[in-house]
Amino acid sequence: MLRYGIPANRLPKDALDAEIDAIRLLGAQFRMGQRWGEHFTLAGLRQQHDAVFVAIGAQRAQGLRCDGEEHALPGIEFLERVASGNPVALGDDVAVVGGGNTAMDCARSAIRLGARNVRVLYRRSRQEMPCLMDEVEAAEAEGVRIDFLVAPVRLSENGLTCRRMTLGDPDASGRRRPVPLDGSDFTMECSTVIAAIGQSVDRSLPEQEGLAVTAWGIAADERTFCHQPARSLRRGDGVLGADLAVRAVTAGRRSAAAIHQFLSGDTVTGNRR
Ligand SMILES: Cc1cc2nc3c(=O)[nH]c(=O)nc-3n(C[C@H](O)[C@H](O)[C@H](O)COP(=O)(O)OP(=O)(O)OC[C@H]3O[C@@H](n4cnc5c(N)ncnc54)[C@H](O)[C@@H]3O)c2cc1C
Repeated sequence: MLRYGIPANRLPKDALDAEIDAIRLLGAQFRMGQRWGEHFTLAGLRQQHDAVFVAIGAQRAQGLRCDGEEHALPGIEFLERVASGNPVALGDDVAVVGGGNTAMDCARSAIRLGARNVRVLYRRSRQEMPCLMDEVEAAEAEGVRIDFLVAPVRLSENGLTCRRMTLGDPDASGRRRPVPLDGSDFTMECSTVIAAIGQSVDRSLPEQEGLAVTAWGIAADERTFCHQPARSLRRGDGVLGADLAVRAVTAGRRSAAAIHQFLSGDTVTGNRR
């Protein structure tokens, strides 16, 4: 995600390359183009290695959950195409549905590709937005318009039909729940609709290989990230669900401490610091 999700204007790729080179210089070997489930299995890795660390991230784009959702462009696919130098022709009127970092990055990338009218549609209010506030301000400064308390209900050749929302009681996330306002539907013409309402963990492979999963991702001990005696550890977005890079890096470092304990024959207690 650091290479193909976060755009280069926010995370320069030479900075990322320098970080990766530092790991390479420490002696790590990288085998690129190897897909779990296609080129190797977890069972096979376990036979060849003393410890296996699973960090597959949250790479599956969530759909809009409305009629015609298949006509929307998944946000991370759009960003990947921009990062690969193969952007999609968007047209002038772009609607981005979502309120997180992916939505802001899609909206700003659309502006930079020349779209004239870029609107972000978010179903709650500014206070509930899950993205970094600096990103919202930067997007608005670049000309992105954000419409709050709006959710999609249908995507068809007539355009994107949305319903206005109001805020009800807090939900499990602690944020106030969006409640639809009956009779408030309106339709807007869009040349492209980008779905950026979140990414989830593809749990099918872990499940197929016998790993326990949770509603968010792969199950792991909170302190050691371990699934013993199976000798696999996993962390990052693949366990937490889509989150922040700094927490994925922290989790990687803490997992390394647990792997070290395991390979040293010590009790695996994790690193509390
Ligand atoms: C658009 C966008 C903007 C973001 N902005 C920010 C931000 O501003 N600040 C911030 O802190 N965080 C941001 N994040 C979140 C951050 O990118 C993630 O939290 C972080 O990258 C998670 O790291 P990870 O290693 O757990 O997973 P990932 O970075 O997703 O890495 C998972 C890796 O596993 C590989 N993989 C997946 N499945 C398989 C398989 N079957 N076989 C082999 N390999 C596989 C993937 O190719 C990938 O290389 C953003 C994310 C997105 C999408």
